[in-house]
Parts: sequence; structure tokens; C-alpha cells
Amino acid sequence: MRLRSLEARIVGFFLLLILLVQLAGFVTIRAGINENARAAVQTELQIGERVFRRLLDQNAQKLTTAARVLALDYGFRQAIGTNDKETIGSVLANHGARIGAAQTLLVSLDRHLISASELEPGAALEQSILGLVDAAERTGSATGIRLVDQHPYQIVLVPVKAPLTIGWVAMAFSIDQSLINDMRELSSLQVTILTRDKLQRWRIDVTTLSSSEATAVAAQLAAAPMTTVLPSMTMGSNEFSARSLPLAADEGHESIVVLQRSLSEAIAPYERLQLTLLLLTAGCTIAAIAISIFSARQITRPLRALTQTARRLGRGDYQGELEIRRYDEIGALSRAFESMRDDIARRELAISRLAYWDSLTDLPNRAQFINLLNSAIAEAATSATTCQILMLDLDRFKNVNDVLGHQFGDALLQQVAQRLRLQLAQSTYAVARLGGDEFVVLLPAASVGDALGLAARILKAMEQPISLEDQTVDLGAGIGVASYPQHGEDAEALLRCAEVAMYAAKKSGNEAVLYDPAIDRGSQVSLSLLGELRRAIDQDEFRLQVQPKVVLATGRVIGLEALIRWHHPVRGMVFPDEFIPFAEQTGFIRVLTRWVLEQSAVLCRDLSARGLHLKLSVNLSARDLLDQGLPQKFAEILKRHGVAPSSFCLEITESTIMDDPVRALQTLEGLHQMGVELAIDDFGTGYSSLAYLKRLPVDELKIDKSFVMNMEHDASDTQIVRSTIDLGHNMGLRVVAEGIESAAVWQLLTALGCDQGQGYFISRPMPAERFADWFAQWSAPGDAAALHRATATGLA
Ligand code: C2E
Ligand code: CA
Ligand code: CA
Repeated sequence: MRLRSLEARIVGFFLLLILLVQLAGFVTIRAGINENARAAVQTELQIGERVFRRLLDQNAQKLTTAARVLALDYGFRQAIGTNDKETIGSVLANHGARIGAAQTLLVSLDRHLISASELEPGAALEQSILGLVDAAERTGSATGIRLVDQHPYQIVLVPVKAPLTIGWVAMAFSIDQSLINDMRELSSLQVTILTRDKLQRWRIDVTTLSSSEATAVAAQLAAAPMTTVLPSMTMGSNEFSARSLPLAADEGHESIVVLQRSLSEAIAPYERLQLTLLLLTAGCTIAAIAISIFSARQITRPLRALTQTARRLGRGDYQGELEIRRYDEIGALSRAFESMRDDIARRELAISRLAYWDSLTDLPNRAQFINLLNSAIAEAATSATTCQILMLDLDRFKNVNDVLGHQFGDALLQQVAQRLRLQLAQSTYAVARLGGDEFVVLLPAASVGDALGLAARILKAMEQPISLEDQTVDLGAGIGVASYPQHGEDAEALLRCAEVAMYAAKKSGNEAVLYDPAIDRGSQVSLSLLGELRRAIDQDEFRLQVQPKVVLATGRVIGLEALIRWHHPVRGMVFPDEFIPFAEQTGFIRVLTRWVLEQSAVLCRDLSARGLHLKLSVNLSARDLLDQGLPQKFAEILKRHGVAPSSFCLEITESTIMDDPVRALQTLEGLHQMGVELAIDDFGTGYSSLAYLKRLPVDELKIDKSFVMNMEHDASDTQIVRSTIDLGHNMGLRVVAEGIESAAVWQLLTALGCDQGQGYFISRPMPAERFADWFAQWSAPGDAAALHRATATGLA
């Protein structure tokens, strides 16, 4: 039991209370006993006084009787009559001795001592006896106590009659030790007879006390005023109550009796009682402690149980019954506690569902997946096996969301989750949603082969278009696979690897990709590349090149395509294929596009200042089209350089539009309304439907160079080019062929009716500032000889 505990406090409180009550009782009783004892002692002393007086009276009676017997003695009277002094003397002596009188006398009528026994104390006593004769003559007999030599004597006087009084018999008794001894026996009081002399000094006559005690009494008497009830006296450790009564006095002397009763003696029996009481108190206290400990436990035990339960709740342990079956307040508290525990458990379950579950798809979320993955890793580590994860990201989900609405997107995600669940049915594999359109599958105790097999099945399942609310959506997905322990030792590392592999898969096409450190290196290079691109813009390392576009039928230069180059301080000339895709991924392309537009506008203004009115073609990326502010920005550039929008043609590819058709279309329309021309670049490599193409506000169609370059040798390429030209014309578009590397292709294209062309045969891309010189020496290959010359020099 700790000191500050409730139990200790309850027990301590009770203990204090009991002790206080007992102490108060004890003190009261003790005071009562003391008071009672004192009162009783006073009463005892009063009674003692009466007893002492009675004792003296009895003595006087005895003496009187003895004296009368003597006075009636015939021989004695005869002796008196005959004045036989000898006989009188012997009779007196005999009688006196028989009753132990101190003196026996015969007093004549004329107050002469007729005879006296030989006993002491002699003359002084005789004087005292004679003093009583007057009283005896008045009343017939007399008794009295007289001091003789400072010692009290009891004296009686009776007449001797024959039949007239012929004399007096007197007897004197010493009030001595035997009398006070009798008194002590009768009353259990201490008795002391003291006499005071003329100098007021008290002398002890006889006493039942020890001599030292008696001396102390004499001393205390001297100090105190003489009263009947004397102040209490202390002798040694004893306290006495005392009472005095006068015995006798003569001129100058006084004799008193002091009766004493020891208070301690009187209290002694009560003290035994008090001891008993004390023992009783101790017993009660112990019993009270035991009871208070018991009742404190009755309170604290359930409290302790509740405390433990509260601790367990704190640790998240909601098991275990509260064993408190009571119907008082504590019972109510524990029932309240129990229902609180149930409520908390229920709420925690709900909260942990929210924390670990994805409410949309009812799949585990990222946090829960990491838990699962961690335990799978621990399991694999102990059993020396491998486990796999597979990360899946839907293609074009963002577009679906934007175009068809979030509600549709949500429903779609639920469908995807359902498909994934179906694929995993009857396996120990677990699927989770990481967020957005990213899902992840855990394959515990599985091989890479298992993972790739599952990935292939999932990809196949994803090929099936999803139908929702009368809409059919084609959803592809990229899947990356990472393996424990080969690719990472912990959950985060594995997830990262799977993500890298997944992005690689999305880039490469339809196959799932197993993580390879090489992919990662690529992405690391990319990162440093972004830093370099930023620096390149600041350091002005980009250069604008142009490639001329000609009218095929005449060879007249009609326009220029702007192509960017990077003059890297270390790597030298870097071609756009090496940094454009990366710039597109990171969004840096917007900076580049702005730069190209700016430079092209400058070039356009300079050329027209020289009288060269050419149309400038600039390539746009998907990211540019997502920027709805592009038309505005472009207009601002054109205005600044005083260039008409119609001097520009912006080239876009089909895939550029397909990433987010709605927004792309908005931007394109904005540009078109400005009066800028638009071209579809790399036509033939994408899959866009013609219906879709028709809705685009384009003016030009550029046949991809992969069909053009070899068309003179490849009949099917020629066929594709031919139908593309027809298609473009049917839709009212200008058709341009890029990648013309020979005169034969030029001729062929001219024969097929293609409108314009560009390619190495005409000119390779050249620094913009050199274009004017090139233009000056350019002559269209109008005849065979010119064409031949061009063939000989164009490829040099
Ligand atoms: P593109 O728009 O199809 O540009 C034509 C590409 O074909 C140029 O490559 C050009 O040098 C090359 N070419 C032209 N004639 C021939 C030929 O007869 N034979 C062969 N084999 N190739 C020929 P370049 O300059 O390396 O550009 C590659 C791609 O980079 C461009 O393809 C374009 O998509 C992109 N690009 C270049 N500059 C920019 C730019 O400023 N912005 C954007 N967004 N993309 C650009
Ligand atoms: Ca182009
Ligand atoms: Ca092209």
C-alpha cells in the first residue's frame, strides 16, 4: 500500500479519527476519575473525622465505666471513710493499671489530691485534672482532653458516693500510638497528632506515617493557614488530601489530629480500570484499522481494476471482461467503463477502416498495403523465399476524368478494382489502391515468373473495354514489377522500383516491365538533365535551325520549319530527340516552345524586312496544348515583333491531341481563330479516326517521313502516301511530304499531286542566320539537269 494511495488515505483518516475519539474519551475519563477520587477522598476524610471522634467518645465511656466501677468499690469507699491512704493508693494503682490509665487519682471535696498512683506524668497532669472538678460538680461527672507536657490526655472524673459525694475518682489516658493505629485500621486513613508550641512550631506527637513523611506534614502545616480542610499535600511521589481537627489547647499550646488519605491509593483501582480501557482502545483501533483497510479495498480494488483496463485501452487492447459485479456507484462506474470500452473499440475499428481502407474501391489503401508488404517481407526473409509486387497505372485515366466527369471516373475505378479482384480470386495475392488510378498487387512467396504471368493476365483483362452508363471506354495500363530481395530490402524501396518499372512500361507500350537498375539510371540522368536544361536557357545555349519547305511543282521556297538545337558546352550539338521527350515529361517544354516562337517571330520579321515573305512552321507538344493561355501568349509575341498570325503554321501530332482532346481542342480553336494555320505532323503513325480529324481546325497534313524516304523502292509506302494525299485533298487540306531525300521521290510526289515538300534533298536544317545565303543560291530543280545536280550536291 503506497502512502499516497487512496487506500492509505482512507485507512489513515479512519485511524486518525479513532485515535482522536479514543484520546478524547481517555482524557475525559481520566479527568472524571481524578475528580471523583478527590471527592470520594474528601468524603472519606469527613467520615474519618467522625470515626475518630466516636473513638474518643468510646474511650471516654470506657474510662468513665472503669472509674465508676472503682467509685462503687466498697473497700475503696471504706478506705476513703477511714482515710486509709495506703489502701486507697493500692486500689487506685490496681484499677488504673487494669485499664491502662496513665494516671488514677482521688480528689477530695476540698480539691485536694487524696491519693495518686505512682504513674507519670505527675504534677502537670494533676493540675489538669483539678481543672475539671468544677465541671464535674455541676454535671455529676466530667470528661475532657487536656494537653499535658504538649501531649493530649483524655481525662474522666466521676464522684465517689457514700451515699453523699465524698470525693472524685479521676482517670487520665494518654492519646497514643495504639489509638491512632486503631483509627488507621478502621478507616485506612493516615493519622498524625501534632502539637504546636508557643513559637508556632509543629511537633509530631504520634503518627501512622513514617517519620520522614510526618516531618513533611509538619513542614507543610507550618506553611499553610489552619483550616479544617487542608490543602492537599505531597510527600515523595504521593499526593494526599488532608483534614485537621482540634484536639486540645491550653495557653500557648495547641494539639490537632491530621487525617490523610493518599490520592494515588484512591485512584489505584481506577487506574487498573483505565489500563483495561487502554487495552480495549488498542484492540478497537486494530479492529478499526482492519475494517477500514477492508472497506478501503472494497473501493480501491475495483478502481485498480478499472485503472488497469484503462491502461490496456490506452495500448489498444480491448479484450478482457471487467470482473466487477456490484450494484453501487462503483458498479455503475465499471458498467459505464465497459460501454465506453466497447464504443471506443467500435470507433477505432471505424477509424482504422478509414485509415487503412480505400472507401471508393473497398480495397486496402497505401498504408495498409505497406503493412501487408512489410509482413510479407519479414515472412520471406525468415523462410528465405522471394516476394513480388506489381504496380499498375491506368492509361489516359486523367482524360476520362476530365472529359466524362469524376463520377464516371469513380465508377470506372470501381470496375477496375473488381477486375483486379477477379484476377486474384483463389490466390493469396492481395490488391490495394495506392491512390488516383494506381493499383498495386502483393504476391507473397512468389517468383518473378508468377508476377510476370499475373501481369500479363491483368493486362489482358484490361484490354476489354469497360462499359458504363452507355459509354464504352478503352483503358490500357502500364505494369511494373519489383522483386524482394533482388530489387529492394524494404517496402518503400520496392514500391519505388515498381513505380520506375511501371513508368518504363507505360513509355514502352504494352508489356509489363520488370525493374532493372538501368531504367533507374536513365531516370537519374533525366533528373540532372532538367537542371542542365534550365541552365541552358539562362546561358543561351539553344539555337534555332530552319529547314525550307518548297512547292513541289515549282521548287519555290514557301516556308521554313523551325527546329531547335542545343549547343551543349561539353557534348556539342544535341539533337531534339535527346531532350524534347524529357522536356515534355517535365513540363519544361513550355519554356522551350516560348523560346522557339520568340526566335521564329524575330526571324520572320527579319526575313520579311528583306522582302522574303515565308510561312514559319513551329512544332507544338501536348503540354503546350494543355496550356489554355498559349494563344494569348503567342498573340502577345507576334504583336511585339509586328508579325501577322497568318505567317505561322503550328505543327501538332495526333498523339499530342489524344492525351486530353477536350482541352487540346480548345487551345487549337483559340489559335485558329487568331488566324494561325495548323498542321497535323507525322501523319500516318497514329491511329486517330478520320471523324475525329475532321473536327480539328487544321489546314495542312504532313505525311510522316518514314513513308516518304523509301517510297521509290517500296510499293506499299507509295500506296500509303498516295491514299494519304487523296485523303488530305478530299478533306480540303494542303498535303506536305517530309523526308524527301532524292529527286526521284520529289518527282514521284509531284506526280501523286503532293503540294509541298521538305527534306535533305532540298536542304538539311541549317542555322537560321544562314538561311538568307542559302535562299540566294537556291534554284528550283525545274529540269532534269538541275534535278541531277541537286541529287549530286543535296546529299553531300
Ligand atoms: P519533325 O517535326 O518531324 O521534324 C522533322 C525532322 O525530320 C527533323 O529532325 C529533320 O531534321 C528531319 N528531316 C528532315 N528532312 C529529312 C530527310 O530528308 N531525311 C531524314 N532522315 N530526316 C529528315 P530533327 O530536327 O532532329 O527533329 C526531330 C523532331 O524533334 C521533330 O520532328 C520534332 O518532332 C521535334 N522538334 C524539333 N524541334 C522542335 C521544337 O522546336 N519544338 C518541338 N516541340 N519539337 C521539336
Ligand atoms: Ca515538324
Ligand atoms: Ca514530322
